[in-house]
Order: sequence, then C-alpha cells, then structure tokens
Amino acid sequence: MTIDLNAISAIDMHAHVHIDGSGRTASPPQLTAAMAAYFGSSEPPRTVEQTAQYYRERGMAAVVFTIDATTNLGHAPNSIDDLVAGAHRNADVLIPFGSVDPLQGEAAVEEAQRQVTELGVRGFKFHPSVQGFDPSAEEFTPLWSAIEQLQVPILVHTGQTGAGAGTPGGWGFRLSLSNPMLLDDVAARHPDLQIIMAHPSVPWQDEAISIATHKLNTWIDLSGWSPKYFSPALVRAARTYLKHKMLFGTDLPALTPDRWLRDFDGLEFPDEVRAMILKDNAARLLGLSS
Ligand SMILES: [Zn+2]
Repeated sequence: MTIDLNAISAIDMHAHVHIDGSGRTASPPQLTAAMAAYFGSSEPPRTVEQTAQYYRERGMAAVVFTIDATTNLGHAPNSIDDLVAGAHRNADVLIPFGSVDPLQGEAAVEEAQRQVTELGVRGFKFHPSVQGFDPSAEEFTPLWSAIEQLQVPILVHTGQTGAGAGTPGGWGFRLSLSNPMLLDDVAARHPDLQIIMAHPSVPWQDEAISIATHKLNTWIDLSGWSPKYFSPALVRAARTYLKHKMLFGTDLPALTPDRWLRDFDGLEFPDEVRAMILKDNAARLLGLSS
C-alpha cells in the first residue's frame, strides 16, 4: 500500500502525533497543558491510528512526526518506533518523519541512520528552540552530513513558537535559535540536503523568503498560521516566484486542515498554483509519483 496521488486532494506537510498507545506524550504534562491553554485548542491529541483515520476521512495524506528533545526537556517523547510502525500500517495516507535529539552528538547521528535504514522514515523534524540547539553550529555538521547522505529532507521549525508561549521565560526556549538565517548556513554547507523552513517564520518572514529565493535546496511550509494572517510578501511569493517551493501544512493539532483550507480559499489563488502548494510540490519533494 502506498499513497495514490490521484486519490488524495492534498498532502499536509506538518502534522504532529503527540501521544502513543501507552499514553506517553511528546512534551512533559505541564508544558503540554501550557500549550493547550495558549492555543485555546479543543483538538484532542490523536494517536497515529486516529490521525490516519482523520486524514483518510478528508481524502488527504499527511507527514507525521513527534520531536525528540530529551536532553533539553528532560523528558523522552512518545515512541518514534510506534509512530513509524503506525504510519506504515496506514501507508495510504501517512508518511513518517523521524526525529533525533541533536544534543546527543554521535548517538544522534547513529539514531538518524537507524530511523531511515531500519524504520523507513522519509525525513526528519527538528525544532531548534525546543531542542535547544543552534542548527548553524559546527558541532552539528556530522548530523547534517549524515542526513544529506541518507537523501531525506529535514523539516525545521522557524519563527515564533507556541511551545512555552505565555509562561515565565517562555519555558526557557530561545526564539533566536529558530531564526531561518541559521538554516541558510546549513543550506550553504549542505547543497544536497533539502531543508523545509516550517511556518511563516514570524518575525523573520523576509529572511525566509530571501533564503528560499537564493538556495535551490530550501522550501517553505505554510503551517501553523491561518492563511488569513500571511504577510502580503508571503502571499505574493507563494502566488508567483516561489510557487514551486511552497508547501501546504497545518501543524495539527494547533490548526486543522479544515480551517487552513477555508482561509486559504479566501486568498483566491489560481487553480494551477493551488494544486502545486496543496499537493504537487510535496509529491515532488518526497519522491511520490502517480
Ligand atoms: Zn511543528
């Protein structure tokens, strides 16, 4: 079983699976509660099986993942092995990305290799603010080189984050680590590594657009913000000169595909560009073919 591109209307590039079958969550309980309060979200955390059903009902596919920030959070995430196995059981709608904790050094490199070769993940999710690392720092070059050789993309959080928002010190998370300019350094040193800058990079939207314009191996996912709040510069780039590099994404459970698509329709993109952003660009990036 694999994704039938003709059977789906869209590929959500950014869906979190925050909980596993044993009830273990991506973040420690207090942080999870703070995030739910910030987002005012009534979306329940979904297991990988529930996530598959959710997308199948909508005739969509989704890239699913959790985040391993064990060192910075002092908390191990929900099981990545379970998440990936669940995605394989639902391969008509789910595409699994892995995650490693960059602060674990050589062990992170080996774990990235294991997740691709043994588990079959199709890319990796990173969140520099939550994982507490500077992607441009020299010490992470071996990790980026390994993933470049594995020939899978990385999806990296950029900009402001809901994680820790509204708490004293923002839970200790540093927004500066999610400046997309740090990824420009990575893209320059690793030209064969495909880098997806996740979200509209608030407050560094112009930086992200410049990077995506300059570096062939960079992309932008439009997740985490309703299209209603996209800056005019982002809408212009997505409609015209960067239309081949823009990717639909929601950041489920923070934002639902129903809401995102309704608000995106309000921007009245041409059908051809809409199709590229919702599905065709992701299919090309992920190597899916019809
Ligand atoms: Zn995310």
